[in-house]
Amino acid sequence: MLSGLHPQTGNDPCLSDHMGVRLMGPINTYSPTAAARAYVQLGWSVTVGHRLRPRAGCTCGNTNCPALGAHPLVPPGPRLVEDSIEEALQEAPGGSLIAATIPFDAVLVPYPIAMAVMLRLDRISPVPCLVTHGATAALLVLPVTGRYAAVHPNVEVRTGPDGWIALPPSNGARWDTPPWVESTHIPHELLNGQDVGRHLREVFKMSTGANTKGALQ
Ligand SMILES: [Zn+2]
Repeated sequence: MLSGLHPQTGNDPCLSDHMGVRLMGPINTYSPTAAARAYVQLGWSVTVGHRLRPRAGCTCGNTNCPALGAHPLVPPGPRLVEDSIEEALQEAPGGSLIAATIPFDAVLVPYPIAMAVMLRLDRISPVPCLVTHGATAALLVLPVTGRYAAVHPNVEVRTGPDGWIALPPSNGARWDTPPWVESTHIPHELLNGQDVGRHLREVFKMSTGANTKGALQ
């Protein structure tokens, strides 16, 4: 699954987009090109960021880099456009894919908290959820509503053009729930941060006490 090719077709499934018919297989987020194209088609502002070099650490040069090979360049690289994604990725092989938090806000919480909230939210509407190194999860909500989900000191909200998330297949990043309906490029509708915040508050409350430490690590 780590090869760049789609396992069934051997091709990027999105290349079959012609004559008005978009043939879809599952979007292969292990393939930087297929993944980048899918993000760009959602209208997201995506740039190529730092990358992790084998045995040489993050290209930012910080030996204690807190986001190994998965954070934006300073200044950020050019925004990827659909026609030149392959070229851009060939110029920066292994580069992370960074999305600015413009068409969504990212609500970052400890992973176990996110999974408990996702169980509740699945009954309402699937919420795109990105997991980083199995430790933190980013729930995507409507833009400029993330602040309503900041219900606990362990919640970090990223919003606006200066905020960012590293997207799969960036180092350590994977989708728990991708931002599109499976096998399509139809985006999931985003919830208001308030709806997510209400459930977050309850889950944090339940996690306090008996198992706070375990749940928040
Ligand atoms: Zn770095």
